[in-house]
Amino acid sequence: MTDTATTPGTAPRPILIRMDPRDNVAIVANDGGLPAGTVLPDGLVLVDRVPQGHKVALADLAAGEAVRRYDVVIGRTTQALPRGSWVHERLLQMPAAASLEGLPMATAARPALPPLEGHTFEGYRNADGSVGTRNLLAITTTVQCVAGVVEHAVERIRRELLPRYPNVDGVVGLEHGYGCGVAIDAPDAVVPIRTLRNISANPNFGNEVMVVSLGCEKLQPERLLPPGSIPIGGPSDAGAPLDVVCLQDAAHVGFQSMVDHIVARADSHLQRLDARRRETVPASALVVGVQCGGSDAFSGVTANPAVGFCTDLLVRAGATVMFSETTEVRDGIAQLTARAATPAIAQALIDEMAWYDAYLGKGQVDRSANTTPGNKAGGLSNIVEKAMGSIVKSGSALIGGVLSPGQSLRDRGISNGLVYAATPASDFICGTLQLAAGMNLHVFTTGRGTPYGLAEVPVIKVATRTDLARRWHDLMDVNAGRIADGQASIEEVGWELFHLMLDVASGRRKTWAEYWKLHNALVLFNPAPVT
Ligand code: CA
Repeated sequence: MTDTATTPGTAPRPILIRMDPRDNVAIVANDGGLPAGTVLPDGLVLVDRVPQGHKVALADLAAGEAVRRYDVVIGRTTQALPRGSWVHERLLQMPAAASLEGLPMATAARPALPPLEGHTFEGYRNADGSVGTRNLLAITTTVQCVAGVVEHAVERIRRELLPRYPNVDGVVGLEHGYGCGVAIDAPDAVVPIRTLRNISANPNFGNEVMVVSLGCEKLQPERLLPPGSIPIGGPSDAGAPLDVVCLQDAAHVGFQSMVDHIVARADSHLQRLDARRRETVPASALVVGVQCGGSDAFSGVTANPAVGFCTDLLVRAGATVMFSETTEVRDGIAQLTARAATPAIAQALIDEMAWYDAYLGKGQVDRSANTTPGNKAGGLSNIVEKAMGSIVKSGSALIGGVLSPGQSLRDRGISNGLVYAATPASDFICGTLQLAAGMNLHVFTTGRGTPYGLAEVPVIKVATRTDLARRWHDLMDVNAGRIADGQASIEEVGWELFHLMLDVASGRRKTWAEYWKLHNALVLFNPAPVT
């Protein structure tokens, strides 16, 4: 993958990275880019100054010529460009979205991924068979109206109760913007409702469910959590009554009384959570959600390939790995349908893409609305180039299942392997939907940098560039930039990430986001109307 070029003397060693021998562009890896006039050993002379992460023409390109990266056409030139030119987004015309007709259906050969045995972590076994990586009390809310009261209660629980329960890692109020003022009978309302329902059953909450409701809201507790919808206390008593504190109940006289009731109810849940202990469990109990945010041209060269290598390790160990972000895989749909384990799974992938195309179409945009100013400044010209770098996170395994937004692995009877969990690419919405799917560990790659974190699961952040890892030394957990620097291979960083995951899942190590308590809000995906 890497073409490393050296110039004599003391000038910085120019490093170009080409992803495929058939590519006619490569990216500049050097910090700060390379000046015009830089001579590469093969005689290539840079015509322009080329910023870090940006593309250089490796051959003379005619006007309208296909520009190839990852051996994929990422666009056509809008003018003739001599060899050594900076090929940036304004010089590229983006291809149309790939058709959803006539795609290869489950045609890829099964890759050789021999079982990987003997890896374990220390986790919390739940009655429903899932395993937590943290031992948290979650307070489910039916509506945004109760958020302020719940925040007060959570503060008091932290201060007054948690010191008595040293085996509990924390308490989380599941605050969100849904629950009332919404068209709750619209067909697409199923998405936010099942998302919230499934988050309540996340493995890190120990199957303890308590709910705070206002009373008059559209999303009534029984609608959010109908009997048997989540394994309260385990499969044996799936019909156990819900534990609900309703703020409009006549029993509450004043604000303090509401908070007192929530704190009192929390106490019984905390007693049960505190009695739990970590046990040695196989690595197959990991449910890892991978996503990227603040991507640059290095995302698809360093961090995402290392995550992809690690994805294969996890799949080999019998774990579950979810990749997501529909607008970032849309341009690679033919690769994905080919990699589906069955034609039915390939069709499910197409159905999710078609649904999202229609959703975007209602807003008169398409998948190209995904890219940000930061992506472009980081060298990603358009969504096609971004997608090719994003899909690499999924490794090489066949895709064994597809989740619609807000569905859980349990809903679909999936317990291992590589899964496509359809979500928007929005970092907070993707993370929220992967939580609903049942993730117990999150891996997040970033090139431009984001301090992203979640209160509900540990988030391991992987930097794509050494410069970012150095500046954000107390935010980034892994530096995949060493791959571009020639200091480590994709395989080495992939194994490092695998071992770090087992340490973080075991509670032996905390991620930087946990250390600083950096928590982004839960953001429910609501494609239905509000009223
Ligand atoms: Ca994202």
